[in-house]
Amino acid sequence: MAETVKKKKMTVEVVTPYDVFYEGRVTSIVIPTLDGQFGILPGHSPLVVAITPGIVRIEEEDEKRSFVISEGFAEIGQNAVIIVCNAAEWPEKIDTTRAKEALERAMSKYNSVTSTEQQRIYARHAIRRAKARIAIAEEWKKSKKDKWDQ
Ligand code: ATP
Repeated sequence: MAETVKKKKMTVEVVTPYDVFYEGRVTSIVIPTLDGQFGILPGHSPLVVAITPGIVRIEEEDEKRSFVISEGFAEIGQNAVIIVCNAAEWPEKIDTTRAKEALERAMSKYNSVTSTEQQRIYARHAIRRAKARIAIAEEWKKSKKDKWDQ
């Protein structure tokens, strides 16, 4: 008889100023950092990393899910990952028109000759937030369409 191998799990908590956005047990998580996408498995050595706006990918029992987060930090422990960030959204909740407008505003701020260095840093983060929202919303729409086409 085939034996199912139980994968190790860890707790993930994503906290924003508005709510506890996500709390669950996962077998892996990939988070967006300044050095790129960073994958974590249970048993990881303790670490604190800065989070940049982008896509988080988690693998639950037998389901893969993704969501967007904005600036924050993650505390990684052997059996838990705690993410504290300014905002988090599931793909189906994203208002793409709003994100596209935010992207345009941020791009013009970034490219404006009158913007200060600080304003350009804020604009760069706003660009990352908007691009991540647009990307995950499009990925989600495509996966829904692919399901219908099957
Ligand atoms: P905007 O200029 O459109 O407000 P922003 O990047 O400055 O974009 P945030 O400060 O990151 O927005 O988020 C403020 C709140 O609005 C958060 O609760 C966030 O989840 C929500 N939010 C921001 N943009 C969107 C979007 N496109 N769709 C759904 N919710 C959004």
